[in-house]
Amino acid sequence: MTESPLEALPIRPELRGQQPYGAPQLNVEAMLNVNETTYDVPEEVVEAIAEQVRAAAQSLNRYPDREFTALRHKLAGFLTSESAVALSAEQIWAANGSNEVMQHILQAFAGPGRSVMSFPPTYSMYPLYARGVNSEYIAGTRSPDFTQTPEDVAAQIREHRPKVVILCSPNNPTGTALQLEVVEAAYRAAAESETIVVVDEAYGEFRQPGTESALSMLAGRPRLIVTRTMSKAFAMAGGRLGYLAASPAVTDALRLVRLPYHLSAITQAAAGAALDHAQNLMANVERIKTQRDRLVVELRGMGLDPHPSDANFVFFGGLDDATAAWQHLLDDGILVRDVGIAHHLRVTAGTEAETTGFLTSLATYLNR
Ligand SMILES: *Cc1c(COP(=O)(O)O)cnc(C)c1O
Repeated sequence: MTESPLEALPIRPELRGQQPYGAPQLNVEAMLNVNETTYDVPEEVVEAIAEQVRAAAQSLNRYPDREFTALRHKLAGFLTSESAVALSAEQIWAANGSNEVMQHILQAFAGPGRSVMSFPPTYSMYPLYARGVNSEYIAGTRSPDFTQTPEDVAAQIREHRPKVVILCSPNNPTGTALQLEVVEAAYRAAAESETIVVVDEAYGEFRQPGTESALSMLAGRPRLIVTRTMSKAFAMAGGRLGYLAASPAVTDALRLVRLPYHLSAITQAAAGAALDHAQNLMANVERIKTQRDRLVVELRGMGLDPHPSDANFVFFGGLDDATAAWQHLLDDGILVRDVGIAHHLRVTAGTEAETTGFLTSLATYLNR
């Protein structure tokens, strides 16, 4: 067989034969596969973004504020009100999606000769971030029901001594949030190897009442980082704005690896305008949580096995053939996610109509 043009290029050996991230982007009626907010951006927010972007356009001849100062203040204000934890602008970092935030973290704290650990099944990007910075990736393990205990997480960190540990809470794809005792145990075990502990709270705004954010643990823990994103709860996946909260020393360290002016003036303006309307946008979060809880109840009623969800999606087992169920749904115009775990699928909680459409189609599949 002849080499493909890509294979003929002098690419880095560790990239050879690898696949890029590739959730299907199909244009169907109900896109419930990548956990976006399926509501349109409210008109009032569209107007505010357009106005701010227009103002920013007038000085696009100049580089943007490298330290995105106004945006950091707004992000700190939002997190403080959302989590009741007082945070200052110096504790905030942002980039083009939490994907880039995570890349900055690994560029600063991992890199060649160091290792990065997470606990599959979890966000499929973690090994790819590690590969991108030439770090070894260590796949930890979970209980058979995909939960994590403080003792088990601590023991695995002590055994492998990675430089960065990523906990995903609520976890994608399983949906369940970690108790803070797990984060606490991970941080204590990680302290022995001066390991950075990252809690990816991409779905933090959807957590169940009574579930606390790891933001409440930041004080006095200089190697703890909590990442968030505007891609999910803020209905801004297309805006590409992710952020984190940590000690001011951590955000200082990330300045060493970011490219100059990495957040465009357009991005800063759009994100800032959306944050001005956080209350309006959070109203849809409550609607989505209602559909999420409905999905869990109704899937259970259909004899399936949904996992408890603190996110805007539900992971469920009990299917005879997940691939056949996925195809049946797609034939009905409903795209969900097959994460490659036998008998399981993951579905985003959408509008009430989308959720009804999904449940109806799945019931037809089960009764075929
Ligand atoms: C969707 C998601 C993100 C968000 O990535 P962005 O780059 O901010 O869009 C981060 N972490 C997890 C676990 C996710 O599911």
